[in-house]
Amino acid sequence: MITAVICAAGRGSRAGYSENKILHEYLGMPVLCYSLSAFAPFADEILVTCAEEDEARVNALLSPFPDARTVRGGSTRGESVYNALKEAKGDIVLVHDGARPFVTAQTISECIASVKLYGSGVCAIPATDTVVIAENGSAVCVPDRSAVYAVQTPQGFRKEKLLDACERARKDGASFTDESGLYGAYCEPPRLTAGDRNNRKLTYAEDFSPAERAGFGVDTHAFGKRQDYITLAGVKIPSESGLIAHSDGDVLLHALMDALLSAAGLRDIGYYFPDTDGRYKDADSAQLLKEVVELLSERNFAPQNISISVLAEKPRLAPYIEEIKQNLSSLLALPRSAVGVSAGTNEKLGYIGEGKGVTVYACVLLKRK
Ligand code: MG
Repeated sequence: MITAVICAAGRGSRAGYSENKILHEYLGMPVLCYSLSAFAPFADEILVTCAEEDEARVNALLSPFPDARTVRGGSTRGESVYNALKEAKGDIVLVHDGARPFVTAQTISECIASVKLYGSGVCAIPATDTVVIAENGSAVCVPDRSAVYAVQTPQGFRKEKLLDACERARKDGASFTDESGLYGAYCEPPRLTAGDRNNRKLTYAEDFSPAERAGFGVDTHAFGKRQDYITLAGVKIPSESGLIAHSDGDVLLHALMDALLSAAGLRDIGYYFPDTDGRYKDADSAQLLKEVVELLSERNFAPQNISISVLAEKPRLAPYIEEIKQNLSSLLALPRSAVGVSAGTNEKLGYIGEGKGVTVYACVLLKRK
């Protein structure tokens, strides 16, 4: 029988939230729920260690999991796990950080297999950075990197052995940052199993929002302005007539701004720069784009790459594509390789094909700054 112990009794103060970070939402679901769903198919019993003040909220999250219940946490992780072990019915226990929501079924099943075969299974990944041991600010020991691993959870053990190790450590007044250290000190070196780079721990506030956001925008303008050019990304391109618009009619930048705002979950350009507002008459769209980038920046996002497709039967755009790309790259402070612009006709079909207007599609990817 298998008992999963999910540690949720910490405060997570480094995330800076007023609530326990495990109750905080990640992509619409409290962080704790991801671990509950991951362990439910494997565990006959799930014990969630939690602080008294979080008990009601945690219990509410446990309702879809009939085999899960809370255990009162202690003042340290070791104490919380000890409280859970005393109540665990399983002969195998898997201890898991509630703040590691991305644990996979494969990681859990390999951990269980290792416990069955070797008596323990601790998920770990090879270190990618060189690790040093420091004393008074100096690196006094540099272990061979190929022998260094970063330890994750779950960490699986035979319950009786781990419980016995806990009791001996309590008598000795010894404390450990996790169960692998405890087990290693009182039982034997724990067996390592393959962890997963994605099985990361959510620690800081920025870990809770996705690192990248995609956005899409479209704009269309009709020909008909008495003017001998159209403006695309600030580039003036000779044309029989201009595009009708309240602003400068830069249909490319309009589609791009909508894509950027949309990626950040903001309203569209009509909301920020209404054409009923006299300030935006003949507005320079490049200037508006700067304001959009500023809005993203306030939310800690910046464009990572953009991809734009212009549909126009006329004028011919091919000779201007490089200049358009150059302008976009400097307006957004992006390398040229992060700016894609293509242009095509509509094979004489529809309003584009009849030469009545221009439509632009824009896709963007934002990265967290
Ligand atoms: Mg427009």
